[in-house]
Order: sequence, then C-alpha cells, then structure tokens
Amino acid sequence: MDVYSTLTRSKETFVTINKNRVNLFVCGPTVYDDAHIGHGRTYISFDTIKRYLEYSGYAVFYIQNITDIDDKIINRSKESGIPAHDIARKFEKRYIEDMTKLNVTGVNLFARATDHVDEIIDQIQRLLDKGFAYETEDGVYFEIEKFPEFGKLSNRNIEELESHRDLAETTKKNPQDFALWKKREGVDEPVWPSPWGDGRPGWHIEDTAITEYYFGPQYDAHGGGLDLIFPHHEAEITQMEAVSGKAPMVKFWLHTGFLNVNGEKMSKSLNNFITIRDLLEDYDADTFRFFVLSTHYRSPIDFSKDSLHQSQKSLEKIKKFYTALDVEVSEVESNNEALKAAKEEFFASMDDDFNTPKAIAAIFVLINACKNQELSENDKIAIKSFLDDVSLILGIDFNIVEVSSGSDELLDVILNVRQELRSAKQYDLSDKIRDNLNELGYEIND
Ligand code: AMP
Repeated sequence: MDVYSTLTRSKETFVTINKNRVNLFVCGPTVYDDAHIGHGRTYISFDTIKRYLEYSGYAVFYIQNITDIDDKIINRSKESGIPAHDIARKFEKRYIEDMTKLNVTGVNLFARATDHVDEIIDQIQRLLDKGFAYETEDGVYFEIEKFPEFGKLSNRNIEELESHRDLAETTKKNPQDFALWKKREGVDEPVWPSPWGDGRPGWHIEDTAITEYYFGPQYDAHGGGLDLIFPHHEAEITQMEAVSGKAPMVKFWLHTGFLNVNGEKMSKSLNNFITIRDLLEDYDADTFRFFVLSTHYRSPIDFSKDSLHQSQKSLEKIKKFYTALDVEVSEVESNNEALKAAKEEFFASMDDDFNTPKAIAAIFVLINACKNQELSENDKIAIKSFLDDVSLILGIDFNIVEVSSGSDELLDVILNVRQELRSAKQYDLSDKIRDNLNELGYEIND
C-alpha cells in the first residue's frame, strides 16, 4: 500500500512501527458550535481510511482529541453567559451524534484536552527543563530558534513567519514563538493550577501531550485538514521532537482538502456553512458519504446541491444493482471476468493512497459490464459478496431502505408498543417485532 505523506511530499510504501498495528491520531473539533459539512468531509475521509486499513489486516487504534478549552469556547461563554464547560460538553455530544449519523464510527478514543492537563503540564515542564521553552509574565512559550528544523512539514522558514507577527503578544522573545501555557487573563475564564500559576494550555500542546501519553513519542499516522499543516502540525512536531529527541514524530502526515463553496473554504467565520444536522434533514448520510468519497481525500471538493443530487442518483444506481442481485451471500467460486477486473481495480486504487473515486469508478464499470451478460447464480453471489466488502469499506449501506413520510412517527409507535411488551415480560412478541424491524433494515439496540 502506498500513502502520500505531507512530510516528504511523496507517496511512500506504508510501513508501520509495529508490524500490523497502526496508531492513528486525527485532530478533532473545537466544540463551541455544531459541526458543518466541511468537518464532515474530513472525518468521513479518515473514517474510510481507517476502515480500509482494517480491511487490509491492520489493527488500528484511532484517537481524536476534543478541544474543549479554547478562546472560541470562552468567547461563546462570555457572549451567552453559559459556562464554558457546559458549552463544550453540549457540542461534544452533538458532534458525536452527528458523526454517528454519518456512520463515522471508527474513533476508538475521544481524548478531551481538559482530561489531560497533567500530561500537558508535564510536557511543558520537560520543554522548560531542556531549554526549549521560557516563561514570561503572561505564559510559557516555545522558543523557535532552539529548534532549527522548524518548518519541515510546511516548508516554511522562520523568516517567513515574521509576517505572522502578532503585535498584541509583546512578552515573547520572538514573534514566531508559540504559547504552551496561557496564564489567567480574566476572572471569568476556566483555569487550572500549574507551576506557572493558574492558566490554561496552548492549543498545540494538547495534541502532543495526548499522543505521547497513549502512543509514545513516535507513532504511525497523523491526520487533519489542510489548514492545520501550519502552524498547528508544525508546532506539534517541534514540541514532540524537541522533548523526546526522537524523529520523526510521525512518518505519515495525511491532510484532507477543503470542502469549498464557490471556491471558498466552508467555515464558520465566512458564514457560508451548512451544518451536518441541516444537511441530513434533506439528504441521507449515505448520499453525503458517497459525495465526499467521489473525490480523492487530498483534493478540494466544490459543494453544491446540484452535485450532491448527482451523487444521490449515482448511488441509487449502485443500490438498485445491488438489490436486484437478490441472492444470499455464501462461499462460491466465480470466474466472471468483469468481477475479477473490478476487484483488481478497486483494491489497486484503494492501495494507491486511498483513491476512492477511482475505486468507485470500478464499481460502475462492473455494473455496465453486467448489463450485457447473463449472470450465473454464483456470479451474482460473488458480486454481492464483493459489494458487501465495498459497502463495509466505504461505510455506505447498499440496501435500499424505503422511507416514506411519517415513518419516524410510525416507528415510534411500534417501538413504544414493543417497550410495553418488554415491560410486561412478553419477550416472544417483543423479539418478534425486533426481528421484523431488523429485516426491514432497522437495528434495535436495547
Ligand atoms: P476545527 O474545529 O475548525 O478546528 O476543524 C476540525 C477539523 O475539520 C480540522 O481538521 C479542519 O481542518 C477540518 N475542516 C474545517 N473546515 C473544513 C472544510 N471546509 N473542509 C474540510 N475540512 C475542514
């Protein structure tokens, strides 16, 4: 398998530190508002990458941090009068609900920054002890000049950073030094005690404290959107490699392209966003996943309702083909040439830096080829079995679930009746309802 790493700007054979294990970290959200579909794009991409790695035989441990302390959360708290902690917990919960709806279920551990303040303080202390950091009256800073390799991920040098001068930050030795710890600024913000007084962590240090704690100083793959390469990921490398003396911190740096609207990145600040919740009012999650995966994860996607509609139609084609196969999957032999070619193309594409659009194209070639031939029962079974694997990898259900208006209410009625039957210990009937609903494609978790 070849995977592109931003660090080397090339595709490299995917070799992990421990043979079949992948330790993967992806920057999670800052939880101050609902996630938009740009976030959805990034997390669907990494979810699919994890699915494919697992399909290929790797045991993947996937951690995502939750930035639950940050200026944006504090500002929201000041505007609304709601404690920062409550804002963070509310939007963390809603984020995980949104991800579940998108079938983004691969994260093994969500690690909150505020649950790792001890590790953060410990890492900052070691950076101070080693002379990479210094304390001022308003915080603790990393001294960039002490780490000459700064810039190796983003290909920027220290001089270029002068343009990022933040005039408000006057206590730093150099404008490009970045905060590891921010001392208390006002009375109405959350703070934690530290050797440098009450305060809160800088943004970059939370990730390296978390990954060092769970993975150690070196691990396999780190992901995030393109906008995080600089300064965030650059700062992560700087902190971790300085403190451990080991490089590279991570060999495979994976970055997703933006989901754009009219050529501009979808973002809260540009106010051009659609929340995942709003989108899922009108479109199903399968359609959005299919839309996202029809573009390579590193390329930009131009979002429009028209192109989403197009994706819906294309996915319907696959769903109809899959449903029409109408066979039970079992172990069979099939020498169908079109299937063989499709499998080869699909897996070769996925092995080539997770090229989902090429892999999806192979499915359409298969569908078209099947139109012109009489398929044997075994062919149908083998094709269905292959499409089941594709469905697992892409995280898209190919079964058609007919949803008619009012079906949610109807489902509620059925589930309530079932609950009453369970309370009355009439398990035969309640299990029967569960099984029937399962057959219709609904999964019931008690
Ligand atoms: P944030 O909460 O803004 O830090 O973003 C969380 C993740 O979503 C980061 O990896 C971002 O790069 C990514 N992200 C934010 N906006 C977009 C977008 N429009 N397209 C793709 N990824 C995005």
